[in-house]
Amino acid sequence: MIEIDGSGGGGQLLRTALTLSMVTATPFTMTGIRAKRNRPGLMRQHLTAVEAARQVCGAAVTGADAGSQTLTFIPKAIRSGDYHFPIGTAGSTTLVLQTVLPALSLASHASTIRLEGGTHNPLAPPADFLIDVFAPTLGKMGVQADIRLERHGFYPAGGGVMNVRVQPARAVEPLHLMERGEVRAISARALISNLSTSVADRELQVVARRLGLAEGAMKMHEVKPALGPGNALMIRIESEHVTEYFTTFGERGVSAEQVAEQACEQAQRYIKAGVAVGCYAADQLLLPMALVGSGSFSTTAPTDHSRTNASLIEKFLSVQIDFLELRPDAWKVVIG
Ligand code: ATP
Repeated sequence: MIEIDGSGGGGQLLRTALTLSMVTATPFTMTGIRAKRNRPGLMRQHLTAVEAARQVCGAAVTGADAGSQTLTFIPKAIRSGDYHFPIGTAGSTTLVLQTVLPALSLASHASTIRLEGGTHNPLAPPADFLIDVFAPTLGKMGVQADIRLERHGFYPAGGGVMNVRVQPARAVEPLHLMERGEVRAISARALISNLSTSVADRELQVVARRLGLAEGAMKMHEVKPALGPGNALMIRIESEHVTEYFTTFGERGVSAEQVAEQACEQAQRYIKAGVAVGCYAADQLLLPMALVGSGSFSTTAPTDHSRTNASLIEKFLSVQIDFLELRPDAWKVVIG
């Protein structure tokens, strides 16, 4: 039984522990779950991740209640199958998917997963990021996941749907993503649901000005049928060896211009740093790379998410994760 103090992180620590527990068949107890968050303990989205993990490996679980700060998870063997995980609120489907995907890729047969809830949530990877960045990167390591977005779901209405097919992993291979190569194309897409299209227009105008994009590189996507209000601005940077996304979300009290400025700042920081992996993909790639046994990538200055995730991974697996500064805001992460 691995004992984990979760108070230094958020939901990600719990999801990482669930994944590692499933794939290594190691039980764990986590205390202090999301202890320093405004609403501490397990929330709906986290409980769905626990339930999804429980179903995938037939685990015995205690403490899976709303607000609980302690959870014990005792896994059994991973089972492929046809899974359906309705979150029931606008909780993030993408985070639940990331919890079970590595485990299901290690099963002997293919699985399908239908997830319902939020697909474009603040503080979580948008479905497009999983489809265009995360899954192709896993693909290079031998993990095959076909992710389809059936319906957009924004916070707070939810109602989004993603369908996923996971194949048993081919021979897994270490990935070294040190070089980004030349930036080949930058484009922007503004998603708008049940809000005035002028919001998307204003966002795209800011992107055009700040990143010097031509009209053809920008698209507005009006989500239909709209289940509730929502807006996301996604900047896609395609380089020779890797594609990255920077997404910000519209919210009440924040102007369309501010939403766009934030996305542009993230994109410009990444371009200037000359690294391969952006700050979000960085914390998400640590786990799959560690499961493969080794890997490396260049990225911007490590976030708290990356550091805490790395420490937890080192508790379950016999790998070491090092963060080495190359130059200001350019770091090398080595997993081995
Ligand atoms: P908590 O509420 O406790 O902070 P949580 O379960 O909501 O936890 P985090 O632990 O903060 O979530 O994890 C969020 C994950 O979403 C991280 O892996 C982060 O990289 C990713 N993420 C956040 N924003 C984006 C974005 N714009 N694009 C891609 N990934 C993102």
